[in-house]
Amino acid sequence: MKALIWHSNGSIELVDKSIPEIQNDYDAIVKVELSSICTSDIHIIKGCVPQAVPNTTLGHEFVGQVIKVGKKIKNLKPGDRVAANCETFCGECFYCKKGFINNCEKGGWHLGCKIDGCHAEYVRVPYANTGLNILPDNVSYEDALFVGDILSSGYFGADMIEIKKNDTIAVIGAGPVGLCAMLCAKYLGAKRIVAIDIDNARLKIAEKENLADFYLNPKDSEKIIKQITDNHGIDGVIECAGTKESFELSWKIARANSIIGIVAMYEENQILPLPDMYGKNLTFKTGGVDAIHCEKLINLISKGKISTNFLITEKMPFSNIEQAYKLFADKKGLKIALYPDKLEQ
Ligand SMILES: [Zn+2]
Ligand SMILES: [Zn+2]
Repeated sequence: MKALIWHSNGSIELVDKSIPEIQNDYDAIVKVELSSICTSDIHIIKGCVPQAVPNTTLGHEFVGQVIKVGKKIKNLKPGDRVAANCETFCGECFYCKKGFINNCEKGGWHLGCKIDGCHAEYVRVPYANTGLNILPDNVSYEDALFVGDILSSGYFGADMIEIKKNDTIAVIGAGPVGLCAMLCAKYLGAKRIVAIDIDNARLKIAEKENLADFYLNPKDSEKIIKQITDNHGIDGVIECAGTKESFELSWKIARANSIIGIVAMYEENQILPLPDMYGKNLTFKTGGVDAIHCEKLINLISKGKISTNFLITEKMPFSNIEQAYKLFADKKGLKIALYPDKLEQ
């Protein structure tokens, strides 16, 4: 089968690999029916993810059909349509029991990072009993493509800031994860949502989808936020942009005693200027997504309460994946859906 690997010199290559086999009783083999590229894949190629193993097949965002299952997998069978979690987690260790699956003692971000991922025709999923969620008949592969990664990340961010009734919250970064955070913040009861991005085209998408109430450029945002919040500031900020400027903005627009949820993955260290923010009594929460709400998110999609289909701005066959990576890295459009190459089946 074809698989897209990365090299430590920062290049990617479509190579031939053999179809993965069951290695462990908790494995499943999934035929990838639809996959997408995530900013984390680009971070790996750039060498910003120390644990990533060169020559590994990239990709952790996908949906597909179960082909084979290991002996101890009871909740899945061949033929099941599934959405995959971007995290590998055992469900039984100290952290998993607390719901902190990103720190699973046996897992973490494995697929497409430490072991072969989904940018291939087939993928081996370890701990498939927890890492795969079955899709109801009325949820298509397109509907569920983002459940296990960016929608989970958006939900994680919105959940972190502990939204209360009447809250005005802000999402910095109107990229795919930021847009999902807006969707989830609305679902979790935010009264007003402020979308902030330097890219007007992305703000336009948020506006077209009616995901926020205010659409601001960072340079005007401090002033306008003061006006719309009686000088108090934002009740909860979700930082999804990942730059020095966006990190700084996140605590500047936050009102005293609020929570700043950092979902973004930075390429360098950030500075917390504690003297400047003294007395503001802020809470910072950070983290890699604990994607434990996949079933709930699939349910919400099934009931028509949320939809992420608008995020697919490009559809390409898998054989064009190298071109797709270039498009995605250049931030052309939002998300690319990669379909199996019918000719190669
Ligand atoms: Zn990702
Ligand atoms: Zn665990």
